[in-house]
Amino acid sequence: MLQIKNLQVKLEEEDKQILKGVDLEVPAGKVHAIMGPNGSGKSTLSYVLSGRDGYEVTGGEATLEGESLLDMEPEERAAAGLFLAFQYPVEIPGVGNMTFLRTAVNSQRKARGQEEMSSTDFLKLIREKAKDLKIDADMLKRPVNVGFSGGEKKRNEILQMAVLEPKMCILDETDSGLDVDAMRLVADGVNALRSEGRGFLVITHYQRLLDHIKPDVVHIMSNGRIIKTGGPELALEVEKEGYEHLKEEVA
Ligand code: ADP
Ligand code: MG
Ligand code: MG
Repeated sequence: MLQIKNLQVKLEEEDKQILKGVDLEVPAGKVHAIMGPNGSGKSTLSYVLSGRDGYEVTGGEATLEGESLLDMEPEERAAAGLFLAFQYPVEIPGVGNMTFLRTAVNSQRKARGQEEMSSTDFLKLIREKAKDLKIDADMLKRPVNVGFSGGEKKRNEILQMAVLEPKMCILDETDSGLDVDAMRLVADGVNALRSEGRGFLVITHYQRLLDHIKPDVVHIMSNGRIIKTGGPELALEVEKEGYEHLKEEVA
């Protein structure tokens, strides 16, 4: 589903290399986790894949189902099936959450040559998905993320993911700032979307999310590189021993 080969990325503004050759392959149906200390380049990787400005790819490639992502506009990447749940979801004053979701769904359908969803079908879809995530009618009416708590913002990201039904989902620290109950809702939302045709890349600092979203593979990123790859036990090892221990071991 997602293939990344020797990806190298620097900041556009500064001469600072952030990703120093990342190799990663997430097959359809699998959940891969990326863990790693702060500042190792995890968010940068997710931003570059989704097409955010400010980064320059200096080498390597990234493909989604064999198509080069790096040549596409952000909206083309989304239409191709890529979704990023942000570490810091943005507030969009003046745009109602429901309107935002409906526009996102329909523009994606349009890009895929499908008809617009009827209001009735859309309402039905939203109500069903929102209920699972305990998102109430008020949150759907308010402007996107404006005045939402940290947990509400993260649940709203998962709602977007649930209605867009992407092929490849990247979650950037969706668990940070969540209490136990909100984390369980988020994890349940992700688990409900797990399917044979869909890949997940779950970026997280902490092992606890991976108790609820069981990954197939765990990668450790440090200083712009994947330094170790293993099974779910690697997350437990990190939790117990810390990243420093792992870095020394790899060195
Ligand atoms: P992580 O998500 O693993 O914590 P990031 O990808 O956010 O790491 O950051 C990786 C490194 O790149 C850090 O040293 C960070 O300060 C730097 N960095 C990322 N984006 C920018 C930016 N726009 N301007 C300056 N430094 C940046
Ligand atoms: Mg960080
Ligand atoms: Mg980050």
